[in-house]
Formats: sequence, structure tokens, C-alpha cells
Amino acid sequence: MGSDCLFCRIVAGEIPATVVRETPTTLAFRDIDPKAPVHVLVVPKEHYADVATLGQGDPALAGEVLATAAAVAEDEGLLGDGFRLMFNTGAYGGQEVFHVHAHVLGGAPLGPMLARNLG
Ligand code: 5GP
Ligand code: ZN
Repeated sequence: MGSDCLFCRIVAGEIPATVVRETPTTLAFRDIDPKAPVHVLVVPKEHYADVATLGQGDPALAGEVLATAAAVAEDEGLLGDGFRLMFNTGAYGGQEVFHVHAHVLGGAPLGPMLARNLG
């Protein structure tokens, strides 16, 4: 992947991002267009297209993404009031960047789980 993938380029330091946490295998950085007072993206440094391929291909790495997301939630003071962890996946899931990323959202009540009810 590498140069074709936006988040691989952020991991490589080729595109700037506001990094809030880094581990040997994961990177957490602020979303460029935040949808909540706290909106951080957590990615594995290795390229997987989505959470399905990551979860099946490397469950241990998926766990490291979760551990980093939990540490970010703690650092950002979200553990008391709660937060939302989201993996948009594929077309129906509204995924726009095809390098798996967890959205850590919080800092205010986030409203219903989905923007609208599905018939
Ligand atoms: P998705 O829709 O794929 O689940 O989420 C992609 C997210 O990446 C969006 O929330 C969008 O604002 C964020 N994003 C897109 N381009 C950039 C970028 O260049 N830098 C950062 N930090 N976030 C980005
Ligand atoms: Zn990538």
C-alpha cells in the first residue's frame, strides 16, 4: 500500500497529523474534521483495509488497536462520562479511508447510535 494510502502516509510521517499516542504497532491522531469535542483516530501501523480483514488477519493487532483506543479515552478524560468507539466498514458503513481506523468519540452526549432509523 504505502504511498497510495492516506493513513499509511500519516504513519510514515509524510503527511502531518496531531499525534496523541504512539506504540510500536499503533498510532493515534486527531481527526482533521472532528465530529465531537474529542475525536481521535487509532490505526495499526500495518495496512489493513478494514476491521474485518484486521480482525481475521491479526486478532492480536486488533487487540492492540483497542488497547490504544482505551488509553486515548483515559488520556482524554472520557472514562467517567463514557465515549463511543466506532469502525465504519465498507459502503453501507460509510467508510471513506480504507486503512482500518477506530474512531474514539466523546466529550459530550453523542446522541443516538444511528443518524436515522432504518425502515
Ligand atoms: P471513515 O469515514 O473512513 O470512517 O473516516 C475517515 C475519517 O478520516 C473522517 O472522520 C475524516 O475527517 C478523517 N480524515 C480524512 N482525511 C484526514 C487527514 O488527512 N488527516 C486526519 N487527521 N484525518 C483525516
Ligand atoms: Zn494504509
